Amino acid sequence: MGDPTTYVIIGAGLAGGRAAEAIRERDPQGRIVLVGSEPYLPYHRPHLSKKYLMGKRPLEKVFFKPREFYDENRIEVLTGRTAVALDPKAHQVTLADGAVLRYDRLLLATGSEPRHLNVVGSDLAGVHYLRTLPDSDRLRDAMMQAQRGVVVGGGFIGAEVASAFAQQGLQTTLIVREELLLRRAVGEVVGRFLTDYFTGKGVTLRTETAVDAFVGGDRLEGVRTTAGEIIPGGVAAVGVGVTPRTALAQAAGLAVDNGVLVDEYLQTSDPDIFAAGDIAAFWSPLYRRRMRIEHWDVARQQGRTAGLNMAGDHQPWDQLPYFYSDLFDLDLQAYGDLFQWDETIQRGPANPSARPSLTVFYLYQGQWRGALVINPAVGQLEAIQERLKSVPTLSPADRKRLADPTAELP
Ligand code: FAD
Ligand code: NAP
Repeated sequence: MGDPTTYVIIGAGLAGGRAAEAIRERDPQGRIVLVGSEPYLPYHRPHLSKKYLMGKRPLEKVFFKPREFYDENRIEVLTGRTAVALDPKAHQVTLADGAVLRYDRLLLATGSEPRHLNVVGSDLAGVHYLRTLPDSDRLRDAMMQAQRGVVVGGGFIGAEVASAFAQQGLQTTLIVREELLLRRAVGEVVGRFLTDYFTGKGVTLRTETAVDAFVGGDRLEGVRTTAGEIIPGGVAAVGVGVTPRTALAQAAGLAVDNGVLVDEYLQTSDPDIFAAGDIAAFWSPLYRRRMRIEHWDVARQQGRTAGLNMAGDHQPWDQLPYFYSDLFDLDLQAYGDLFQWDETIQRGPANPSARPSLTVFYLYQGQWRGALVINPAVGQLEAIQERLKSVPTLSPADRKRLADPTAELP
């Protein structure tokens, strides 16, 4: 029998944690080293802008697995350690403190970092970004003390933090560059629905404008928009997108193009190096195109597939992409390809009752590729997922059925 395989995982986020779990499942003997810059074990970021931010979820329920899991599975977790160089030829990774790790198989799961606004006053106390546990703790403390909050960015962080601010009783203003909230992510119909819903919940939206400056003396007093308005607020949260952390891969000579390029097996241009999660620009066998998806479930599932493949499996990542969001009392669930579409079909009217609901389907070149459901009915999501897995091409009759909530799905 040969020496046990050494697996090194760079990035102790969800993709990294899941990969470690899967490797141990497939290879009981191998050495597994999980290296993470943060001083924590892998955790779930979605809670940071939702229940954890609002103080409604305890810290221990934010982590992927408790400490004992890593001990029992002989996963060496090096927290607070950053990989600074990768030498694929020598099969070595160098850490910031000079330590060198040799690997047989490597996973890059370095995730994303928030884009920062470069405007006057950006470094004033009271201006917050949200990616890590301490970011969420600081934002919660600031939110609890403020009467007025300003949220910048019409994407997921913007929508979720504005929802948290308003539920916390802050007079909340949300600055959105487009004319509708989340329009780029979910399109016109859902964007309109959410914009109206947020307005109904008391959030003031300032659309088609951006931030010109954060204003204040020692600390933030308000946000000046490019339209010249000063919106008062003692706390501001900024969510203007993220950049995948690809520097390590790029410097090592791996193929990188808006993410680390991997095939459907999540293997990079070097057969001993894999990538998963936010940084992976993967080939999708389902949609026959390259995609990079910045969502929790994709990191979770790809981490597992990458781990299994590193340990000897040969499984494509061909799953249906999925994401969710919680906004006030809206449970938003989305399946499939919402990243490239040229047509939407709304299934019946939006239901504006006490439990509002909405279903929208996304098509590309006549194929039904995605669905977004707000407050789904029992059994609705299972039926949609089943259909979407076959990427059906729709006839005119099928389109009518999609639009008719009383008809069965085609
Ligand atoms: P990350 O979670 O970014 O983890 C990467 C880790 O690698 C980090 O800990 C980083 O410090 C570490 N690292 C980076 N470089 C190095 C290095 N050189 N050496 C060592 N370690 C390194 N998605 C949804 O689908 N639904 C949601 O509701 C949702 N809510 C979210 C809320 C918030 C506040 C945030 C920030 C994200 C949310 N997401 C959500 C997105 C989701 O969390 C991400 O897609 C997911 O975290 C990506 O996982 P990852 O493991 O690829 O990367
Ligand atoms: P995001 O969802 O990509 O949205 C970024 C938003 O910022 C977009 O609306 C974008 O507008 C806007 N923007 C970009 N540059 C701007 C600028 N200079 N001024 C004003 N607005 C600007 O990113 P995010 O909300 O920051 O979230 C960070 C990451 O976490 C993303 O990967 C996201 O997917 C993930 N996340 C996911 C969820 C979820 O799935 N529920 C929840 C939270 C976070 P344009 O469209 O005009 O470019």
